Amino acid sequence: SKVLKSSRSDPIQEHSTAPDPPVKVVVRIRPKTVNEKLGDPTIRKASEDSVSIGDREFSFNSVLDSTSKQEDVFDLIGVPLVKDALAGYNASILSYGQTGSGKTYTMWGPPSAMVEGQSPSTQQGIVPRIFKKLFIDIEREKDNSDDKQINYQCRCSFLEIYNGQIGDLLDPTQRNLKIKDDAKNVFYIENLTEEYVTSYDDVTQILIKGLSSRKVGATSINSKSSRSHIVFTCVIESWCKETPSSNISSSKTSRISFIDLAAMGRDKQIDAGREFERERKELKSSLSHLGHLVNILATGTQPDDLMYRDSCLTHLLQQSLGGNAKLSVICNISPDIKNYVETLSTLRFGQRVRSIQNKPVINEITEEDMDDLTDQIRQLKEELIRAK
Ligand code: ADP
Ligand code: MG
Repeated sequence: SKVLKSSRSDPIQEHSTAPDPPVKVVVRIRPKTVNEKLGDPTIRKASEDSVSIGDREFSFNSVLDSTSKQEDVFDLIGVPLVKDALAGYNASILSYGQTGSGKTYTMWGPPSAMVEGQSPSTQQGIVPRIFKKLFIDIEREKDNSDDKQINYQCRCSFLEIYNGQIGDLLDPTQRNLKIKDDAKNVFYIENLTEEYVTSYDDVTQILIKGLSSRKVGATSINSKSSRSHIVFTCVIESWCKETPSSNISSSKTSRISFIDLAAMGRDKQIDAGREFERERKELKSSLSHLGHLVNILATGTQPDDLMYRDSCLTHLLQQSLGGNAKLSVICNISPDIKNYVETLSTLRFGQRVRSIQNKPVINEITEEDMDDLTDQIRQLKEELIRAK
């Protein structure tokens, strides 16, 4: 049988230079607001890949200063992610940083900027940009496949983790959903809504719907503060046929996930009180568990499954942290000195993430694999007949 692994044309290949690392950390410094002061110690971009805070310097894969545009984040992380996704890798983006540092803005941008034709789309976040490109590239791959036939199927889900429980953002009546692990030790969420998408518009409708269902609370600066972690996931499956009438000759699957964390750091919430005590506790515990896991991974130790499963957030991140996926972390920081402590803590988190060793694999089944599986099924059937 034929090997089809390297037969696909890759429209982006010619632009790529160095191979993309499995784990990438990018720092983005948000612009200062009118009330914020820049001062001593100054937080600034020191070079293309380092940031200085006072006399300390930290290096990352890239640093974007406060003049950076949404498009710059997309070029650094989004473009390679689309390429990886179409090649069959799992890939995730985690938006990290204290409350008000730009996590949500960087990830999604304002919902109005997702709709084509409305307000300047320069504010579009990295996720809508990724899907814009994904569907363009899928069409291009189909056109470039000569006489072969490539089919794609994409399905999306959107969940939030609130009070340690998983809720369905596409069906808010569904709360406390359970994480299960399949035979291959890959998690899935029981009963979570999955919607098939075939276009950018399909995806943005889901994003807008999901984002509007997210738990938010008022903060003292009168903006909305996210009170849940949210995870948007798209599974892309593709399969290839030599001719329209032949059997499927190979298939690939890729899961891309986007994680936007809840409010963290000094809490300016005015809606304090009993009701929110549990919320704060759960939030603190999920974030400290994430930090703890990253600390362990950074020392080169692989935590056991139980450790990941101790909290929903780390369970969902198992493939991304020390697993078979590619991971990009955006460390969002504020330029204001009064956030010095939180900024330092975000930079340290980013440093530790950088030393995590992921081992990305292409999720592909080739014609040979399928022949093997067919053989196995035949053998099992024979055994079954003999056993009767
Ligand atoms: P977080 O999600 O980390 O709590 P947000 O993304 O909600 O923070 O950002 C807080 C505020 O700052 C929002 O009003 C957002 O629009 C604005 N903001 C954040 N980053 C930028 C940026 N790079 N450029 C312009 N405005 C930004
Ligand atoms: Mg937010």
